[in-house]
Amino acid sequence: MAGNGVWEHADMVNQLRHLGVVPGSTLVVHCSFRAVRPVQKGPLGLIEALLAAVGSTGTLVMPSLTDWDDDQVFNAHITPCRGMGVVADTFWRMPGVHRSDSPHSFAAYGPHADKITQPHPPDIPHGPDSPIGRVYDLNGSVLILGVDHGVNTTIHLAEYLAGVPYRMPKYCTVMHKGIPTRVNYGEIDHCCRGFNLVDQWLEQRGLQRKGRIGNAAAILARSRDIVETVVAELTNDRCRFLCRRYTGCDQCDTAWASMNNR
Ligand SMILES: [Zn+2]
Repeated sequence: MAGNGVWEHADMVNQLRHLGVVPGSTLVVHCSFRAVRPVQKGPLGLIEALLAAVGSTGTLVMPSLTDWDDDQVFNAHITPCRGMGVVADTFWRMPGVHRSDSPHSFAAYGPHADKITQPHPPDIPHGPDSPIGRVYDLNGSVLILGVDHGVNTTIHLAEYLAGVPYRMPKYCTVMHKGIPTRVNYGEIDHCCRGFNLVDQWLEQRGLQRKGRIGNAAAILARSRDIVETVVAELTNDRCRFLCRRYTGCDQCDTAWASMNNR
């Protein structure tokens, strides 16, 4: 670390190694840069450290969707990645990075990038046939930097595989025969505060590692361990992630209500 408290490339690569990131791995990163900084070269410096840690045989993956406007057609070449942080919005713009053409877009760089960013159905955003599902197939890992399991999209894959019964009414706009067309669908979603249960579940089983990258608290876990743990924990109560009804969470109340409509 430089004397001025700025994290340098080699420091962060060492931290990533210490946490357990190995060369050749497929790594999904959810990141709050505010928690990691100050970093030499800023967000780009952090991305370069992540790329160095997975190496030339590894693949780096980040969300690249925009959560801004469901009435606009997503364009993988120009639509900014809003709401996912400055690191994610820097990553998809870098040379050689693939970006899936979907309202639920992910970006990837490395040998598996093309496979991970293939077209995926808009109405099952994080199912088996999605970037997150493909990372699971590839035995990838999830790295959470400066945030918590509340943003861990892989848990939505687990909910899908566990057969959770709730669906939030959503829509997006896609091009269909050259015309912007609204697609209505039900998405497995809620406030996601309940996802923080996953922290203790993985901790109890010894299936996650915790450390520090830059100044940020970091969590590393295998995609398959997350999915298998969540599916097992939801066996007896598939609505365990939802806030209790009528306790002030509008999103979870909508998820509860969706089950009456099915
Ligand atoms: Zn809730």
